[in-house]
Amino acid sequence: MKEVARGVLWLRMPLPFALNHINLWALEDEGGWTLVDTGIADDTTRGLWGQLFAGPLAGRKVVRLIVTHFHPDHAGLAGWLTERFGIELWMTRAEWLHARMLQQDTGPEMLAQQVAFYAQAGAPDEYIDGVKRAGPSYAKRVGPVPRAYRRLRGGEEVAIGGRRWRVVIGLGHAPEHACLFCEDEKLLIAGDMVLPRISPNVSVWPNEPDANPLADFLDSLGPIRDLPAETLVLPSHNEPFRGLHERIDELGHHHEERLDKLASLMDGPKTAMEIARGLFTRPLDQHQTGFAIGETLSHIGLLRARGGAVRERGDDGAWRYRRS
Ligand SMILES: [Zn+2]
Repeated sequence: MKEVARGVLWLRMPLPFALNHINLWALEDEGGWTLVDTGIADDTTRGLWGQLFAGPLAGRKVVRLIVTHFHPDHAGLAGWLTERFGIELWMTRAEWLHARMLQQDTGPEMLAQQVAFYAQAGAPDEYIDGVKRAGPSYAKRVGPVPRAYRRLRGGEEVAIGGRRWRVVIGLGHAPEHACLFCEDEKLLIAGDMVLPRISPNVSVWPNEPDANPLADFLDSLGPIRDLPAETLVLPSHNEPFRGLHERIDELGHHHEERLDKLASLMDGPKTAMEIARGLFTRPLDQHQTGFAIGETLSHIGLLRARGGAVRERGDDGAWRYRRS
């Protein structure tokens, strides 16, 4: 735990993935703490929260929970924390709906639809078997999602302690991701929209197979790029940093390079999986294969929207893409 600005505490929780931690924030508020994001729903994280409430956060109750977006590492313990303190969950509408939906949607039909999506992407049988074995993975990593919430709107200002934070919406990584910007002190709680070392995951998911999330992502970075250059960025992974404009420019260049590489790989009809193997040359485990397919499809989606690629359905039911 570290104080990165007056009354802004940087907390860190472990994650059972290659990306092995998440940053959370505790903000001094009237009468207690406002927490931003929760960590994943597992005993380790619950135990660490217990230690924080008994230690560094002791003496002030928790008065509000803000969750930036629905992903399990951010929303996993939303129900547990709001229940424990009798507080409201503040979230954007699309993020709350998404969390509620995925936490409830656990039946065999959901899995069948996922399997169909990955089969159409040309995923190998081993991967598809793994999807079946894993079952509803979101619901496993996220506890109960509160049935009621307080809506955060883009552009709205939220008073937390002595500060005013403006909600800035990011798209593409998640449906309506909330970032929080404090104009007076140039602080940005960026969630996963701008990260210092990794490019935020921008994927097509089974529930919106024809989405173009990369266009959404790059477009929504525009208003974030308009924030002041000296802003201290508080990201959900790795360390707080300055250099917001340079980092957003790097992300833009990174995706344009990926699009060039993608187009060069699409010299004949190929499935998303075949193209992903050209884009991601290292061996991919189960978890990484899903992300590689999703990220490849998001780049294909933007290339198609720009008129640079077309697709056709193969006899095996899988989509095949080539540059046009
Ligand atoms: Zn995320």
